[in-house]
Amino acid sequence: MAGAKVIDGKAIAAEVRRSVAADVETMRREAGVTPGLAVVLVGEDPASQVYVRNKAHQTVEAGMRSFEHKLAASTSEADLLKLIADLNRSTDVHGILVQLPLPGQIDARKVLEAIDPAKDVDGFHPVNVGRLSAGERSLVPCTPAGCVILAKSVQPELKGLEAVVIGRSNIVGKPVAQLLLREDCTVTIAHSRTRDLPAVVRRGDLVIAAVGRPGMVRGDWIKPGAIVIDVGINRVEGPGGKARLVGDVAYEEAARIAGAITPVPGGVGPMTIACLLKNTVSAAREQTSRTG
Ligand code: NDP
Repeated sequence: MAGAKVIDGKAIAAEVRRSVAADVETMRREAGVTPGLAVVLVGEDPASQVYVRNKAHQTVEAGMRSFEHKLAASTSEADLLKLIADLNRSTDVHGILVQLPLPGQIDARKVLEAIDPAKDVDGFHPVNVGRLSAGERSLVPCTPAGCVILAKSVQPELKGLEAVVIGRSNIVGKPVAQLLLREDCTVTIAHSRTRDLPAVVRRGDLVIAAVGRPGMVRGDWIKPGAIVIDVGINRVEGPGGKARLVGDVAYEEAARIAGAITPVPGGVGPMTIACLLKNTVSAAREQTSRTG
């Protein structure tokens, strides 16, 4: 296989976590504050339990306080909203994350909107969504922030690049497009109704694939030398019937044409929690400067 540089998300995420740990130490020394992240899990979804465990572990490893709230699957919306109100008031908690999906009796939108925007480290509150699209300072969704860090690891200046984002979800596609606009890219957002997707993708100096379809983006869709960031996480059956994870990009093909590419796993995935920790420190800094 020829030349694409493989963007090592694991190593870059570790670097982000090291810099977060240094910031935490400075905050503790200078302001006497230890940033705290509260993670709320409702129910026993096994994948969510793994995510929450990883988040708590990495939070503590970065020197922050981790508050885990594990609630029964039968928890009422009113009880969850009461917990959010308590966390909003707590001075030990600077970031609040409610693990999605939530059980059917709970309106996820209502819960996300109840989080104090200053503590909304997932960046999903309408106030933060609005600030991002208005180009104001805000807490930014973690996976999109991770994508931009990965792209900048190979090309620190993204200004003027043609960026093609495939996918328009509220958690990845739209916010990553906003962030790239902020970096002065010329941004195209493609989706399931886009005409001649291969031709649109071929315009991209930077391609972000956030679709959820294994290997959909083929090698001959990629402009030679482009940076390819693959957000997709798809579980497929590998050799011998064993499950394995693949991205939205046909990796082997694309790596022959691209200038740089993220692998799956080990690309965007590890960046999400690292950016969550980064957001928690920014939130703590902002809250501390307001009160103290
Ligand atoms: P959604 O299902 O919410 O959105 C998928 C998007 O892809 C939609 O906008 C959809 O278009 C578009 N799409 C679907 N089919 C096609 C097609 N054939 N051609 C062009 N566009 C298409 O997914 P998410 O944004 O939540 O996630 C995308 C992927 O990223 C998933 O694999 C997910 O697992 C992964 N992911 C990884 C994360 C991480 O690394 N930490 C975090 C979040 C997600 P339309 O709007 O028209 O339906």
